[in-house]
Amino acid sequence: MTTLLADKYYNATLTELFEVEKGLWIFRVKPDKGMSDYKPGQYTTLGLGIWEPCVEGNGPEVLKPGQEKQLLRRAYSVSHPMVNAKTGNLYTNAELDFYEFYVALVLHSAPVTTPPRLTPRLFALKAGSRLAYGPKMTGHYNLDGLKPESDVVFFATGTGEAPHNAMVWQLLSEGHKGKIVSSVCTRHRADQAYRAVHEKLEKRYPNYHVIYMATREEDEPKLYCQDLIRQNLLEKKAGIQLDPSNTHVYLCGNPSMIGRPEEKEGVKIYPKPEGIIEILEKKGFSMSLPTKPGNIHFEAYW
Ligand SMILES: Cc1cc2nc3c(=O)[nH]c(=O)nc-3n(C[C@H](O)[C@H](O)[C@H](O)COP(=O)(O)OP(=O)(O)OC[C@H]3O[C@@H](n4cnc5c(N)ncnc54)[C@H](O)[C@@H]3O)c2cc1C
Repeated sequence: MTTLLADKYYNATLTELFEVEKGLWIFRVKPDKGMSDYKPGQYTTLGLGIWEPCVEGNGPEVLKPGQEKQLLRRAYSVSHPMVNAKTGNLYTNAELDFYEFYVALVLHSAPVTTPPRLTPRLFALKAGSRLAYGPKMTGHYNLDGLKPESDVVFFATGTGEAPHNAMVWQLLSEGHKGKIVSSVCTRHRADQAYRAVHEKLEKRYPNYHVIYMATREEDEPKLYCQDLIRQNLLEKKAGIQLDPSNTHVYLCGNPSMIGRPEEKEGVKIYPKPEGIIEILEKKGFSMSLPTKPGNIHFEAYW
């Protein structure tokens, strides 16, 4: 029965995977129908049947009747390898015949009823495994509306840098004139899977700067994305001033870094501790919403 269900749902192959460290993967997926157009920054879904095995360490799941045939789907931003190791240059679109993903394993130890989770099943796959992809790319988190001379600042936590990698690739490939800064905050330096390639690009493109921070390494100060703005470190480390008339800011990953406010009777209530949206709105920036474009773009992963 599960073979029939897999044949029905699975429409892509995991072709390559790189274990950055335990529970953190970069992997590549080839859809059976080939590549389609998408805007860097967008996401798609990946899915696996609930019948697939989980990695060790995942707590027991209690399935409701009928759930044993379910397909689990979750959203994943499309990442980008940026530099083609064979040529040493930025990938061209024609050279890419896979979509790259950057995913962290989320385990749970206590028994859960709903929803049974995808990543414990994803991390049990191997190169050559089949899975469900898409069917399409979607999302407003992209570079639409930017001028060639706009400054662009990306803030990410962990795998939240995935869509930024694709956007950095697009900006550099198009010869973007404004400054570009990519900042990434992780717990450990070992979690910074794309750091070497970004540092290579930083040397090659004078308008590109990267800032990596690890919060749990004894030999570096504990800095969060918010601190880069509060302590004026963007200017010190990357020579960029956050000017709302010319800067677009992109925030992706942990919702507390982003700090999206709730709106009650026309009043904005910002979450605590302070997230980047609150800091930037005080400086004259405004959130970009599907109904109202602004210069703070954000994608919360949960
Ligand atoms: C638009 C969008 C794009 C996304 N892109 C990515 C991506 O590129 N890479 C990626 O790793 N994840 C990404 N996610 C998160 C992803 O969709 C799943 O939520 C995540 O992989 C966990 O799935 P799960 O089924 O194992 O657990 P779920 O049942 O979905 O999550 C259970 C709980 O785990 C927590 N959680 C979820 N994700 C994380 C995380 N990364 N770290 C710590 N806790 C977490 C949340 O509290 C969540 O409620 C994205 C989410 C959205 C909405």
